[in-house]
Amino acid sequence: MAVTSDPAAVEAAAAAPVAADSGLGELCVLMKLGEIVLKGSNRKLFERRLHNNIRSSARGLGEIRLTQRGAGVIILRMPGASDLEVAELAERMRNVMGVVWVHLVRRVAKDIDLVADVAVRSMAERTGTFAVRARRRDKRFPLTSSQIAAQVGAEIKRAHGMAVRLKNPDNTLFVEVDKDEVFVFTDGIPGQGGLPVGMSGRALVLMSGGIDSPVAAHRMMRRGLKVDFLHFSGMPFTGPESIYKAYSLVRQLDRFQVGSRLFVVPFGKAQQQLKSSGVERLQIIAQRRLMLKTAEALADDLGSEALVTGDALGQVSSQTMANITALDDAVDLPILRPLIGMDKTEIMDQARRIGTLSISELPDEDCCTLLTPRQAETAAKVADLRRIETRLDAEALAEHLVTTAQLHRPSFLGDAAPAHA
Ligand code: ATP
Ligand code: MG
Repeated sequence: MAVTSDPAAVEAAAAAPVAADSGLGELCVLMKLGEIVLKGSNRKLFERRLHNNIRSSARGLGEIRLTQRGAGVIILRMPGASDLEVAELAERMRNVMGVVWVHLVRRVAKDIDLVADVAVRSMAERTGTFAVRARRRDKRFPLTSSQIAAQVGAEIKRAHGMAVRLKNPDNTLFVEVDKDEVFVFTDGIPGQGGLPVGMSGRALVLMSGGIDSPVAAHRMMRRGLKVDFLHFSGMPFTGPESIYKAYSLVRQLDRFQVGSRLFVVPFGKAQQQLKSSGVERLQIIAQRRLMLKTAEALADDLGSEALVTGDALGQVSSQTMANITALDDAVDLPILRPLIGMDKTEIMDQARRIGTLSISELPDEDCCTLLTPRQAETAAKVADLRRIETRLDAEALAEHLVTTAQLHRPSFLGDAAPAHA
């Protein structure tokens, strides 16, 4: 019954037989929560947020019954659903921020013989050593945890001839006694961890079609920020490819927060205006400042409290210490840079894990490569940049650019999904 991303294994797990006469062999999803349990008096608020996010993620799958069991465990039941539908629900829960582990579990009556029976069936395909780990959330259950483990372990050993090994077993069978039922399950899959999206407020991600910004967005969502996305295309001087990429990236990231908004601003003309104002070596950094000013104006409309970028120190010439200082100077809002201390290979590993790398690697014409000077400034002076911007009235230009933004709602559920903020 391991939860896994391998469809064949999910099918096999879902098809595992249960005691037909128990009426309680029902397949459910059990989730272990992380930091959320540490939050003391705010816990109720966090739980409510997480429950809402879980429901949004499960949209379209049918009726879900959610119950919170103690501080760290949530059970999801889908009455009448097929085992495959429950497996699909488990897959979706892997992407809900705040969930540390996802398990497909069998729900069994509080009868140790039925529990042992389901446990034996769960281990049918397994080989090697095993251990049973039992715990009771209901302490009134007549057997202690170690008695449960001993009895269930003995049945598994008798049925399958497997050897018990308490330290580093090849297989672990979990038995968790709850108020109304017992849950029996084998290994699970790791969830995202972190905090429920929305718990930390809102931010606006500057989203290129590159590798870094989607990873930065994921990191900040994982710390509880609900994010909107802003992409600058080189239109009308480039094709729309970068917009398609940004759209696909946001649709992939939408799995982690549900209800994403992507704003697209055609930036080509503004870039040309900068160029003809004689910025020369400062072209790239002046462009980035104008992007940030535009983002700040949009963030103001959206109620976002911070901007997020994919900058990593020293990765490209615009990301030197001096240039980062010059970028921070462009806006009042804090700029969050979750990748600042990461190597490119680490960022790429993350991108692969969250499913954005293959999209980022598609070819496009990035607006930043338009009008690139032969030599880029690595130590931009803030005073020079400010002088240019005063001449151009960059603030007014940023305000204007916001009015040209086009809103898209890339949904991981596909284009037919109902739009929502
Ligand atoms: P990325 O892989 O995210 O594109 P990068 O290594 O290519 O980053 P830059 O091109 O200097 O670095 O961009 C740094 C950051 O500036 C990006 O991570 C992103 O947050 C923002 N940015 C750059 N180009 C755009 C764009 N066209 N639209 C929106 N944001 C952008
Ligand atoms: Mg880039």
